[in-house]
Amino acid sequence: MDRYEDLPALPERIARMRELALDLWWSWNKQARHVFRTLDYPLWRATAHNPVRMLRVIPQATLAWAAADPAFQAAYDIAVADLDQAHSARRTWWARTFPDLNGRSIAYFSAEFALHQSLPIYAGGLGVLAGDHCKEAADLGVPLVGIGFMYPQGYFHQHISAEGWQEETYEKLTWADAPIEPATLADGRPCIIPVPLDDRSVLVAVWRVRLGRVTLYLLDTDLDENAPWDRELSARLYGGDRETRVQQEIVLGIGGVGVLRALGLTPSVYHLNEGHAAFVVLQRIREFLDGGRDFDAALAEVRRTTVFTTHTPVPAGHDAFPYQIVEKHLAGCWGTLGEHRARFLALGEYDNGSGSQFNMTALALRSAGAVNAVSQLHGEVTRSMWAPIWPALPPAQAPVTSVTNGVHVPTWISTDLSGLFDRHLGRDWIDHHDDPAFWDRVLDIPDEELWAVRSALRHHLFAFIRERARALWTDHRVSASRVLAAGPMLDDNTLTLGFARRFTGYKRPWLIFSDPDRLARILNAPGRPVQIVFAGKAHPADDTGKHHLQGVVRRALDPAFAGRVAFVEDYDLHVAHFLVQGCDVWLNNPRKPLEASGTSGMKACMNGVPQLSIGDGWWAEGYNGRNGWLIDGHAPAHDESAADQADAESLYRLLEGEVVPAFYDRDAAGLSRRWVQVVKQAIRSVAPAFSTRRMVKEYVDRLYVPAMR
Ligand SMILES: *Cc1c(COP(=O)(O)O)cnc(C)c1O
Repeated sequence: MDRYEDLPALPERIARMRELALDLWWSWNKQARHVFRTLDYPLWRATAHNPVRMLRVIPQATLAWAAADPAFQAAYDIAVADLDQAHSARRTWWARTFPDLNGRSIAYFSAEFALHQSLPIYAGGLGVLAGDHCKEAADLGVPLVGIGFMYPQGYFHQHISAEGWQEETYEKLTWADAPIEPATLADGRPCIIPVPLDDRSVLVAVWRVRLGRVTLYLLDTDLDENAPWDRELSARLYGGDRETRVQQEIVLGIGGVGVLRALGLTPSVYHLNEGHAAFVVLQRIREFLDGGRDFDAALAEVRRTTVFTTHTPVPAGHDAFPYQIVEKHLAGCWGTLGEHRARFLALGEYDNGSGSQFNMTALALRSAGAVNAVSQLHGEVTRSMWAPIWPALPPAQAPVTSVTNGVHVPTWISTDLSGLFDRHLGRDWIDHHDDPAFWDRVLDIPDEELWAVRSALRHHLFAFIRERARALWTDHRVSASRVLAAGPMLDDNTLTLGFARRFTGYKRPWLIFSDPDRLARILNAPGRPVQIVFAGKAHPADDTGKHHLQGVVRRALDPAFAGRVAFVEDYDLHVAHFLVQGCDVWLNNPRKPLEASGTSGMKACMNGVPQLSIGDGWWAEGYNGRNGWLIDGHAPAHDESAADQADAESLYRLLEGEVVPAFYDRDAAGLSRRWVQVVKQAIRSVAPAFSTRRMVKEYVDRLYVPAMR
């Protein structure tokens, strides 16, 4: 904890800026954001919106000015009052709906949480889902505590070499600039607990992150007392080899439960977000055995109170370990289990074609009483994919339900659009935002105003892209061609497709380039040009993904596309905000049915950026014929190359015949009524149904509360 430093002192009048900065609640509250922006706008930009960093480096004179300025004081007072409101447990949805469950809580375990770019402890979609889940729980008053990892080196930063190849760098987080504080025990000492690993004991320190009413605890093994290899255990997300991974998962599961106990917390429900945290089950069985129960009773109690969410139909996305490494690293746990060790190991037994291994998803499926997939279609796929777990049941009856993902609306909605909603839907629109009927009012927003906001958002995106390209040139001194690939020639008034996702085979980033000549004609059509912005990382070990990425960078440099294809480096939450708000169309063309849900398209649609997508994941239930476009080549999925060709044909036809004309057929006022209609339908249908407000309420009603009762 010696890396931690408290923030410098603040003038008395604005002393609670410290609390505002250290509670990530500020990131989804307009008033709090306004306070930091007005405090020092250039510094706000320069720190990529990191108020903790700001308060460390801001000149005392600026703070003195702010403390004495009546306008600043007024803004500050409102933000602080909002903060107090955001911490009060009274009158929340949870308190009103479940008064009998006062005192109960849910522990939510996840290997990654994407909350804000100032806390880089996430890789992608799984983390975003976990982060948005916690933020929504905070808003609704759902009594949830999160458990995860504090990775000092996080996930990697992406750089593109002169050859278009992805290079990874791991930067050590500046602890002092992160919105974290040491978690303390009741007596004020730091919370540090031992976790058994193999024949030793590893110490785990705990950081606390505040998200309004929700608290997140992050585990960290980087303590002086630990051996160097143990200090490295929590260094990186999805970094090391199988041995590192299994040890991380032991720390998360066994250590996570230990941390809850040390902090005096006894949640009534344990939610495992993906199989990474499934060793929670082992620790809880051990606790029940220690308490004198037998194995069956312990397992039954664990099942009754465990919720498990599975997130991918891609087999490689499910962690499995050879038995000997699980047995070795769990050596310190076997004592309690005694003769039941074989029974525990059997819970994880699974053969996915390459011999029997200890599979974390199998463990979770067999020991959670409630299991869900993340879209309806993913539910069907999961039931048949994991059918061997329930040999006595026909696959359709496998006990896996679906709770379709959502996104946290206050986090993802653009400030410009939210201002438009304030004016036309009422300032309290956020309170009604999971009510589908409420969103009919979007149809009454004047077309001109919505069109103007959409154009403004496109301008913000290109200002951001040009600033990034300029920084590559001036700060990083990269070659001119790499600067070109970053998109400086993109045009503010051109129809813009966005494709931002992990680079991996099944997402088919190359699909739109299947017929380069046809694409060049589409992009360069006189008077009706089209441009495409790509972003996304490939997993460091995924060379195929890196080849796809290189292919896109080469296309961006191909004069045939006239600078209308760009690749934005180092996709993260910050980049994602600009892209999902500023593009015109969100392109998503995975190989069906491998996209379990996808959430970036939800963020886009609610910002008025309709999807052009395969009917996979959430779009299979989200597309309604009016709110975007459905790519469907109607080829049998088992013939991959036929499906690729047919889907590419469908994509081109939609672009040529529907998307481009709808955008460019303008009226005398210079706007396209047809386009605005699609935009309105996208917002109206997606904002209520694919929000975490709808999603978290579903988790509560269907999974958490039944487990509590
Ligand atoms: C939303 C988001 C994702 C997940 O989006 P998908 O549609 O599932 O690819 C991944 N990374 C970042 C940074 C995001 O914001």
